[in-house]
Amino acid sequence: MTKEVTVTNSKTKELIELDKMHYIHPTSAPKDVAENGPGIIFSDGNGIYVNNLEGEPYIDGMSMLWNVNLGHGQEELAEVAKEQMLKIAYSSSFKGFSNEPAIKLAEKLATMAPGDLNAVFFTSGGSESNDTAFKLSRFYWEQKGKSEKRKIISTKNGYHGVTFAAQSATGIPATHEFAGSSVEGFYHATPHLINCELGDKGDPNYEQSIRSLIEKEGADTIAAVIIEPVQGAGGVNIPPEGYLQAVRKLCDEFDILFIADEVICGFGRTGKMFGVDNWDVVPDLMCIAKGITSGYAQLGGVMINTNVREEIVNFEGVLAHGFTYSGHPTACAVALKNIEIMERDGILENVQNMEKELEKGLAYLQDKHDIVRNCRTIGLLSAFELYNPERGEHFDPSVNAASAVVDECFDRKLILRHIGSFRVAIAPPLIINKQEIERMIQVIDESITAFKKKLG
Ligand code: PMP
Repeated sequence: MTKEVTVTNSKTKELIELDKMHYIHPTSAPKDVAENGPGIIFSDGNGIYVNNLEGEPYIDGMSMLWNVNLGHGQEELAEVAKEQMLKIAYSSSFKGFSNEPAIKLAEKLATMAPGDLNAVFFTSGGSESNDTAFKLSRFYWEQKGKSEKRKIISTKNGYHGVTFAAQSATGIPATHEFAGSSVEGFYHATPHLINCELGDKGDPNYEQSIRSLIEKEGADTIAAVIIEPVQGAGGVNIPPEGYLQAVRKLCDEFDILFIADEVICGFGRTGKMFGVDNWDVVPDLMCIAKGITSGYAQLGGVMINTNVREEIVNFEGVLAHGFTYSGHPTACAVALKNIEIMERDGILENVQNMEKELEKGLAYLQDKHDIVRNCRTIGLLSAFELYNPERGEHFDPSVNAASAVVDECFDRKLILRHIGSFRVAIAPPLIINKQEIERMIQVIDESITAFKKKLG
């Protein structure tokens, strides 16, 4: 349900009516929005704050969709976009056409990415990146004379986007229900042990379920395994030590490409530049988006290792794949500036320091409230769970505990996100400071208290 908003401003009232009539919102309940209007209309923002049209500030505790890493109102990003737009509206990258920001960004990414991920194919976002990675994997095996290697293995609770292939790789059943959008050739293994003591019990043998699936389907039919280093939309599930290394080994053992979906983890979210850097794992293909521009422009890409690049550049034909906005000069210029600011302002260091503050805050909440459990944090990517002590497990889904707590937070001007009925995710901009984290924790504290009171 979108929340009822008390509206005093006539411009807001008018926009709400227009939205109800004409705007179909993604990943939203359309009937609810058409009847009740949008939950909020954002106007502007600064740092970790966003304002509604009435000028009321909210803490953006999710960096919107885990992407506004440098926060709102970053003037340097706006300026570089303007400068680049005035130079040229857009330039094609097809047929070997190129532009300076795209070339420089490709080179910069090669220096930043782990191992020999030294080339990039640009896209406009995460789903396009994952679809591209699947196609490149199949293409790679075709070039190797193994065209029967076509299947893709992903994990349950993994999220990879909404285009047909990305959605098929996504291991969250609700996403498959929409328009029957799964295509053939995608298989979901049980991921690592999720949520330690509660919640879904994954396979404790880490990679065993992927191995079983490979053995069942036959390695000679499998092109790639795709995994988020830390599952985001599936619940902020941080893998145990050894998991990603084990999956890397499995892929080597069975001659399968390893794709890391770094769409959320990439560009500092976990306290390292890329999620895989936490475990010193080097994938064959690495999908990036979101934080690459801190959300100021639409950009994604697939980083490609030497081995796969060799097959691509030795291909005699035309690589019949590309998006109009692949390598958009404005988006690439913004990404370059975004990375420059990250390096200049010590953003990774801030994330590592703020991770400790967030952990401390969540430990306080868990101590104080018997309904808070399973707090987990890596960098500024975090979640906690709501547990019913009387039941000895999570709240019954009918209580919608997580959504109720998120609504309480929203009423107190903090934006968080619920995942399913009992998980609440937190992923603030990477520029957040100690006082701002303390304020977020205070709001969550008050919101949980209010939720408990309402429950009686
Ligand atoms: N992969 C992951 C891990 C994501 O979190 C998302 C988006 N939340 C995507 C892919 C899809 O990206 P996009 O919405 O830009 O297509």
